Amino acid sequence: MIADRAGKGARAGPFTRADASCGTIDRPMDLQEKLAILADAAKYDASCSSSGGKGRNSLGTGGIGSTEGMGICHAYAPDGRCISLLKILLTNFCIYDCAYCVNRRSSNVRRARFTPEDVVELTLEFYRRNYIEGLFLSSGIIRSPDYTMEQLVRVARSLRTEHRFGGYIHLKTIPDASPELIDAAGRWADRLSINVEMPTETGLKSLAPEKHLGDIRGAMGRLRLAIDEAKAEKKAPRFAPAGQSTQMIVGADAASDRDVLATSTNLYTNYRLRRVYYSAFSPIPDASKILPLKPPPLVREHRLYQADWLMRFYGFAADEIAPPGDSGMLPLDIDPKLGWALRHRDRFPVDVNRASRDMLLRVPGLGVKTVDKMIAMRAHKRIRYDDLVRLRVPVRKVAPFVETVDHRPRGDRESLALRRDLREPAQPDLFG
Ligand code: SF4
Repeated sequence: MIADRAGKGARAGPFTRADASCGTIDRPMDLQEKLAILADAAKYDASCSSSGGKGRNSLGTGGIGSTEGMGICHAYAPDGRCISLLKILLTNFCIYDCAYCVNRRSSNVRRARFTPEDVVELTLEFYRRNYIEGLFLSSGIIRSPDYTMEQLVRVARSLRTEHRFGGYIHLKTIPDASPELIDAAGRWADRLSINVEMPTETGLKSLAPEKHLGDIRGAMGRLRLAIDEAKAEKKAPRFAPAGQSTQMIVGADAASDRDVLATSTNLYTNYRLRRVYYSAFSPIPDASKILPLKPPPLVREHRLYQADWLMRFYGFAADEIAPPGDSGMLPLDIDPKLGWALRHRDRFPVDVNRASRDMLLRVPGLGVKTVDKMIAMRAHKRIRYDDLVRLRVPVRKVAPFVETVDHRPRGDRESLALRRDLREPAQPDLFG
C-alpha cells in the first residue's frame, strides 16, 4: 500500500527525469562536488547544529578526506559528550513537493546523489582522519519511501557489519517506509528521527500534502515500542539506544507558539522523544505563494527552545508558558520564565531559605544547578543577599523575585515597569 502510493508519485512525477540523471545532471560529479551539494542541502535539518570543520580539515589536499569545512556538525551524544558528525543527505532529489523545502521536486536547485558506497567511503575516510565521530544521514525521497529507506539502511548496515564501524550513527527515517525497514534502521543506528515538520495537521496538509500525520505518528509509535522493548529486554545489539528525535518548522504556517508547544508535549509524553528541534522557516527561491515572504524572527526559535527546556527540566506545562486566552505567542523581548513570573506576581517573592525546589526553579534567572547549590547551602546556613552574588546568579533579574535573610524586594513595582527593566536588548541577528 505504501509502495503503491509512492510508486504512483514515482511514475507521475519528475522523479524519472531526476533519477535518470542522478549525479550526472550536466556531467559526472566527483565525490567532492556531491559533498558540497549534499552537505549544504543537509544544513536545513536542525537536528544537529552545523558549525563547519575548518579547525580540522585538510585544506589544500583536495582529497576525499578534505572536508573543506563542509558537512561537519556538532551534536550531543547520549552520554552528554559533544561530538562531530558528518551531516549529509544521500540525495537532494525528492519525489515530494513540500512547499517549505528547498529540495522539493519543483525546486530548481542543483541535484546530486551519493550511492550508499560513497557515503560509507566518506564516513570511513573522515573517521580515520579524526574529523568526525559519527554520521548524520538524511535523504530526499527517491523512487519510493521503501527504496529510500533501504538505501539508508544499507549505509548503516555496511558500516556496522562490513567495516565494524563503532561511531555514532543518526538516520532520518521515512515515516511511510515499511516497519521491517524501520526496524532494520534501529538495529544499526544509535538514533532515529522522523520529522513531524508542521506543528498542526492543518499546516501539514496545506504545505506538505503528500505527507500524512497518521503515518508520521504511527511510525513514531512503533519506534517508541521497539525502543522500550529493547531497553526492557536489554537486547543486544540494542535498538536505537539514543532514542528518537524530531524537527518542527516554525513560522511557515499560522501555528502559534502555543500550538507548537502543545505538539511538543504530545511528542514527549506519548512517543518519549529525546528531543524536539525547532527550525525557523527560511524563505526559499521560487517559493509557493502560501508561504510567508519573510522568515520569523530568529528569537522566536530561541524562545521556543527556552520554553521546551522549561517543560523538560523545570516542571512547566505548555499552557502555563503560553496560556490560553491570549495570542498564543511567546513574548520576544523577555524569556518565557520571566513572562510566567510577571503574570504570577502573587506567587513572589519566594523565600530562598524555605521555598520548595519546584518553586525555586520557577524564579527567573535561577537554573537547576544554582537551585541545587542553594538547597545544599540551606542545610548549614541561612542564605543572604551576598550569597546570591557568590553563587553568580544574575542578581538584577533574580532580586525582584526572591527574599533572603537581609533582602525583601519592593512590592510596589508594576509588572510593566519590571518588564521594561528586565527585557533583553534586541540583537539584530536574533530579532530579525
Ligand atoms: S519529503 Fe523531505 S526532502 Fe522531500 S520535499 Fe518534503 S521535506 Fe523536502
